[in-house]
Amino acid sequence: MRLRPHHLLCTQSYSGKGYNDAFVDNMNQITGKLRTEEKTPVEIVFSNDDLCACCPGRMENGLCKDNKKVNSYDKKVIDYFHIEEKTYIYQDITQEIRGKMTSEMLADICGDCEWYPISACRRVLCGASFSDC
Ligand code: SF4
Ligand code: SF4
Repeated sequence: MRLRPHHLLCTQSYSGKGYNDAFVDNMNQITGKLRTEEKTPVEIVFSNDDLCACCPGRMENGLCKDNKKVNSYDKKVIDYFHIEEKTYIYQDITQEIRGKMTSEMLADICGDCEWYPISACRRVLCGASFSDC
């Protein structure tokens, strides 16, 4: 499985909502695997990945329609958590990320994402209570 850096966050906090049915079906399949297996190898790629593959935001040239924004999310995840373009064990690297994440870091990484105010990202990734979300 291939994931871009900031999708190490989104796959943890995904709660069943998405851009369209194809995107949600793919997310359900991928997060179902990542959340039930114990040791899943994931190849980190600094480009579009297996989530982007079924996203309506993926353009014909292969880039994201919000390329500048999502590249910034990736860059911040890379910098904060020293992520490299290589294979990790998903459950290990996401546990490490949750251990280091603060609400300030998450706000800096993806505070302008449309899902930030409405999804489970803050609760799952930095322990904010639902009333804060
Ligand atoms: S706020 Fe957006 S980019 Fe950040 S973890 Fe949630 S869905 Fe992903
Ligand atoms: S919005 Fe962009 S980065 Fe996010 S899944 Fe869709 S194509 Fe990929």
